[in-house]
Amino acid sequence: MEINLPKGTHDVILDEARAYDRIETVFKAAADLYGFNEMRTPVIEHTELFVRSVGDSSDIVRKEMYTFKDKGDRSITLRPELTAGIMRSIVNNKLYATQDLPLKAYYVGPAFRYERPQLGRYRQFNQFGVEAVGVTSPYSDAEVIMLGFNALKMLGFEDITLKINTLGDEASRNNYRVALKEYFAHHLEGMCEDCKVRYEVNPLRILDCKVPEDQKIVEDAPKMSDYLSPEAKDRFDAILALLDAFSVPYEIDENLVRGLDYYSHVVFEYHYTTKKGVNVGAMGAGGHYDNLISDLGGPALSGVGFACGIERVYALLKDDELLVDTKETTDFYVMPMGEEALQDGFMVGAALRAAGYRTEVCLENKNFKTMFKRAERKGSRFAIIIGDDEIKTETVTMKNMATQEQFKVAYGDLIAKADELFDLEDEEHHHHHEE
Ligand code: AMP
Repeated sequence: MEINLPKGTHDVILDEARAYDRIETVFKAAADLYGFNEMRTPVIEHTELFVRSVGDSSDIVRKEMYTFKDKGDRSITLRPELTAGIMRSIVNNKLYATQDLPLKAYYVGPAFRYERPQLGRYRQFNQFGVEAVGVTSPYSDAEVIMLGFNALKMLGFEDITLKINTLGDEASRNNYRVALKEYFAHHLEGMCEDCKVRYEVNPLRILDCKVPEDQKIVEDAPKMSDYLSPEAKDRFDAILALLDAFSVPYEIDENLVRGLDYYSHVVFEYHYTTKKGVNVGAMGAGGHYDNLISDLGGPALSGVGFACGIERVYALLKDDELLVDTKETTDFYVMPMGEEALQDGFMVGAALRAAGYRTEVCLENKNFKTMFKRAERKGSRFAIIIGDDEIKTETVTMKNMATQEQFKVAYGDLIAKADELFDLEDEEHHHHHEE
């Protein structure tokens, strides 16, 4: 009997895997452009890490974590996001003391949340993200917001919607929370069960409730902007001024509060709607945090970061046909005609690969038509035909797959000929020899 995938997981194969790889490569290139370095942290962490950072009032910690006891009776959790692990690593390795600030890290890898699977929502998904830690300036916030925006543009998205809001400092937030509680106390009865819990643990979270009836109640709720301290307002305005100066369009969304407890000051999300009208929710999201490092036993350093969901980015790029270079390509497809020719074909293949050419040799005894079809499916530039005549004369017949033009090349001239052929190709096919 076949065994199926666990609910909410998915395989990434063939063209899709190539697309994922390209998406990650572009994200990394963007982060590299801004001076960020990669960090890789474990998929498993102590449960306590997420309780303390993501926060026990968040949906993630309350009901979405994959938590289990290991054989040593420790409570272990599959990371539901990657920021916490990065912060733990910064504290454990005292990077704040040995590296220049801000510490600028990027990461990519799987995260796990026990959510209800739906469009753009998986139980295992991949995140790319960055964190800049240790510089309090609003310039750092603006830099990270722009990095995310530019990375998404580099991927091919136009008309990205940047939603932005400020949660203010702790004092602003405490005052606002009191006002929200007062307001929602009169409406709570008709609201969803989740909101009733949020009311107790973190009333700000009610603001991004997705239940339509609750949204109507939220419309008339007090606004964060009326509770900001002058410093918090100045800080937000400074970020917006930078975005204006660099023509990064944004929409202020006063109900944007984010589902993780560690944020303060600026929070933001990147959205995109495809031409067909598909919207998978935020492609990426992030914000500023003040206590994350200190809550994990490090010094009082603030930071800013975002995470993008690779699955969502992929789905949107695909829907708008913005995926490029995902088809498989090969330089040479070697077609030995008959058992005997395989020996020479195998040798020719090895020589071409040693010279850096992507080469596939047909290892099965197939007729010409079948092999030619396979060469086409492989996206080969040239087919190399080796039959009895070729073995005798130690030459191959080469066929340009695009033009159908055919010519003979002596075994000894193969690499020189390949170099000549690929020198004639346009820039993007140059990579072989120059590396
Ligand atoms: P968050 O860590 O919740 O701020 O999410 C950051 C980004 O990760 C989101 O904008 C999504 O693109 C992606 N993401 C979060 N949860 C999921 C999920 N369950 N499935 C797929 N992508 C997700």
